[in-house]
Amino acid sequence: MTQVSDPSPLSQLLKPIGVYGGTFDPIHYGHLRPNLELCEYFDMQEVRFIPAFIPPHRDAPCSSAQLRREMVALAIASEPRFILDERELRRGGSSYMVDTLKSLRADFPDNPLCLLLGMDAFLGINSWYHWQELLDYAHIIVSQRPDSGFEQPQHWPQEIADFYQHNKGDKEQVQSRLQGVVSLQPVTQLAISATDIRNRLKNHQSVRYLMPDNVINLIEYHHLYT
Ligand code: ATP
Repeated sequence: MTQVSDPSPLSQLLKPIGVYGGTFDPIHYGHLRPNLELCEYFDMQEVRFIPAFIPPHRDAPCSSAQLRREMVALAIASEPRFILDERELRRGGSSYMVDTLKSLRADFPDNPLCLLLGMDAFLGINSWYHWQELLDYAHIIVSQRPDSGFEQPQHWPQEIADFYQHNKGDKEQVQSRLQGVVSLQPVTQLAISATDIRNRLKNHQSVRYLMPDNVINLIEYHHLYT
């Protein structure tokens, strides 16, 4: 089990970088708004949106990697703190987060790295490839998601509750250490999911106001999810 890393002097550290992986099939406001709030709360330098090439923990995406990448690029174009990071697409194969964090740590040796996860993803993190190494490279910031048992460790799988109990930390620890802290953060609750959006599109219902208009335009142009 990873221990919380030794504190480094704050003066030597740069601002935290958010690391936000996902299938983004398609991207929606439930991905965007919570991460902007985390970016502001932790005073992050940037949040890097990293579309998975092959997500290892779920069915194959409906849209191609190229189109999912394009939807992310459009969705974040107007927010300078949001960056598209294509490393998992370039790497190919199964997109294991531990590999992504290793390569980010090599690129950003002096920034705290913050793996940003919704609560649902955190509750399944013990099935991820080499999950116990994640804290060797990054903090884990868990954001609230509707109906996901946020701040109710008594309802979590025991292994996850123990992991949280052993590594939990606050904003100051996140900003003053390179990695190793797990922190829970409330965010504006948006009960939006890509699954629901795909179902609406399949049923020829509107997805307006669930995601940015430029993403909807791209979906309509390519007749995705119908
Ligand atoms: P799907 O419905 O296809 O499973 P999704 O909407 O859950 O997709 P993903 O790309 O699988 O989106 O999720 C990427 C990350 O975004 C995960 O950490 C997930 O918890 C988080 N996330 C997705 N939707 C929301 C939301 N509405 N609020 C907060 N976090 C979210």
